[in-house]
Amino acid sequence: MVHIACDTHTHTVFSRHAYSTVEENVRAAAELRFELLGVTDHFSPMVCPEPQTGVDLRDYQHFLNFETWPRMWHGVRLMHGCEADIVDLDGHLYGWDMPVQRRLGGPVEEPGETLQEAVFRDCDYVIASVHGRPWAKGASREQLTRTYLRALEHPKVLMLGHVGRSGLDFDIDEVATAARDLGKLIEVNEGSLYGRQDCGERCRHIVERCLAAGCMVSTASDAHISCDVARLDRTRRLLEEVGYPARLVATRDAETFLRVWERTLG
Ligand SMILES: [Zn+2]
Ligand SMILES: [Zn+2]
Repeated sequence: MVHIACDTHTHTVFSRHAYSTVEENVRAAAELRFELLGVTDHFSPMVCPEPQTGVDLRDYQHFLNFETWPRMWHGVRLMHGCEADIVDLDGHLYGWDMPVQRRLGGPVEEPGETLQEAVFRDCDYVIASVHGRPWAKGASREQLTRTYLRALEHPKVLMLGHVGRSGLDFDIDEVATAARDLGKLIEVNEGSLYGRQDCGERCRHIVERCLAAGCMVSTASDAHISCDVARLDRTRRLLEEVGYPARLVATRDAETFLRVWERTLG
């Protein structure tokens, strides 16, 4: 069996449609002897409606006080980041065009900083994902491929999230090759492999093409409740069936993941 010891994409109560705390998720990872947990809440209009009168950072405090988090907790290496929505065909990520109008301490004298800058600053890494996609309507395969390529190029983005269920028709060979060249990752998402979201065949194809490109993958429960954290049975099975070599699984142990992270974003 493919050994996996990191879950790089999980949610907490901050995401509002998720139900566990950071510590509950950490404990769940520790129970399954996972070495590393990434907490990556949604940075998206799903959580706070798009501001009509300028950004108030009081709505995003979750992302602004990461320095209080321990690096190791219950024996698990803890990483903090976010899952940012791709919001247009140019591959921009949420908040890129939203100036901050009010900080925690009061109104901003001279607006300049964007919401994205404020939120990404202390993120260890960012996952770029597609959720709502009205902007993709009528777009060509070339355009959608470029969307993913542009998102991948953002200096804070370490991986593309659940590309198998984005609903976008894009060229996975081109995207996986770019990820390989940038030292970045394509995520294999457990949540895409069961229930109403089952994208099994599509996900298998994506994993096969990642292998052909020699691109590294990350593994993620995308848990929205602690009992799903670090549960990656279907992901393991898929990687096993495709014959994914351990050397290309960035999440096989914490040391490997941290090395990839430092080399690529450090
Ligand atoms: Zn997502
Ligand atoms: Zn997610």
